[in-house]
Amino acid sequence: MKDILEAILAGDTDPASWASLAVPEHYRGVTVHKDEAEMFEGRPSRDKDPRESLHLDDVATPEVGPGEALVAVMASAINYNTVWSAIFEPVSTFAFLERYGRLSPLSKRHDLPYHVLGSDLSGVVLRTGPGVNAWKPGDQVVAHCLSVELESPAGHNDTMLDPEQRIWGFETNFGGLAELALVKSNQLMPKPAHLTWEEAASPGLVSSTAYRQLVSRNGAGMKQGDIVLIWGASGGLGSYATQYALGGGATPVCVVSSDDKAGIVRSMGAELIIDRSAEDYRFWKDEHTQDPKEWMRLGKRIRELTGGDDVDIVFEHPGRETFGASVFVARKGGTIVTCASTTGYLHQYDNRYLWMNLKRIIGSHFANYREAWEANRLMTRAKIHPTLSKAYRLEDTGQAAYDVHRNLHQGKVGVLCLAPEEGLGVRDAELRARHETAINRFRDV
Ligand code: NAP
Repeated sequence: MKDILEAILAGDTDPASWASLAVPEHYRGVTVHKDEAEMFEGRPSRDKDPRESLHLDDVATPEVGPGEALVAVMASAINYNTVWSAIFEPVSTFAFLERYGRLSPLSKRHDLPYHVLGSDLSGVVLRTGPGVNAWKPGDQVVAHCLSVELESPAGHNDTMLDPEQRIWGFETNFGGLAELALVKSNQLMPKPAHLTWEEAASPGLVSSTAYRQLVSRNGAGMKQGDIVLIWGASGGLGSYATQYALGGGATPVCVVSSDDKAGIVRSMGAELIIDRSAEDYRFWKDEHTQDPKEWMRLGKRIRELTGGDDVDIVFEHPGRETFGASVFVARKGGTIVTCASTTGYLHQYDNRYLWMNLKRIIGSHFANYREAWEANRLMTRAKIHPTLSKAYRLEDTGQAAYDVHRNLHQGKVGVLCLAPEEGLGVRDAELRARHETAINRFRDV
């Protein structure tokens, strides 16, 4: 691994010299273990601790198959799916690996007694498999997390509709929280040259998801002038939704839960902010009963902030806790677009508000290659900025996942894999300066 790291730090991008580097037989990766899938039985979700279930293991390097690439990973990031894998909820991710393993001899490689996690990376291509022409060893890349087979016609208009669509590093093995990672070559995208390795690794999954969910015609199709209610506006998804709304001429109404988090969205340029803790919304009277008066209180507050308008789009992901309120506060003809159910997936809402007011609920999930590419293009042009708040060492991934599980974090939490320290990897100083000016302008607000 030493030679590989030296080549990266030297800025070597020559394909021939990269191809001459030996591929290590083993590498270090963050795993969960199949024989521990029951370890948290009986504990409440909140007390299931990723620090107990995540391991840093030496694992065998997989063979690179057709259409695939092996990447030397400089940095990765924690996504909520790492938390789900680490607490074995809603199901153990080994069920996904077993199902994938039944598909073909190549996919059988993924069905192992350990699962190397992680759905984001920045790094350098080390090897490519047969049939890969667009990428070569030495290319500096980031990877989006859509893994598709595309053997069925169903996925050919929108690859998210492929029946064999999976999230890499969650429903497949050999993820990015490791020194090496195996991806399909159509997951690769250019690394933004003005960003450090850890900054570049942090947005992929959430920025692409937020792009499809909010901007793409496959999601809410946001347009200039729209008013968008964004739950968790300083969090992983929300911090990008906020930037897309501001950059696209819409007005975000940002919901957060503390002064610090309000400061983050204000620093991005948001003006309409609701602190859900300070205003103490209680949408549920008890486990089974919602309180429509609380929905109305939120709607009234939104109108106060917007000067009387209701929201055109609600950017949903908390799920059960907020969904009734989200359906209520969307304007007549408005859209509730959802990609998750962090607080519970059995939602309850009053359907009268939906049908009588001609609202729509849209389901959205990750992004196709095109959408992920467009999200990355905005990043490479420094029009959207990473929201990394902290980077941990690979050894401390358990703590990093714990922070996200317990909502102790802000924006994105990064992980240094091969990168020996933060701050490396910037190749475009001019764009970096522009990026820093933009970030500092936000910070001065
Ligand atoms: P995150 O960084 O933890 O941010 C979520 C934010 O939601 C939190 O920061 C919190 O912000 C807010 N929140 C938490 N509990 C809430 C509640 N009870 N009511 C209102 N707001 C609440 O996570 P993320 O990366 O944005 O992911 C959010 C969810 O989306 C996760 O379940 C994740 O698995 C899912 N997801 C799905 C996809 C997909 O492709 N389908 C992709 C990415 C993520 P405040 O405390 O400031 O309000």
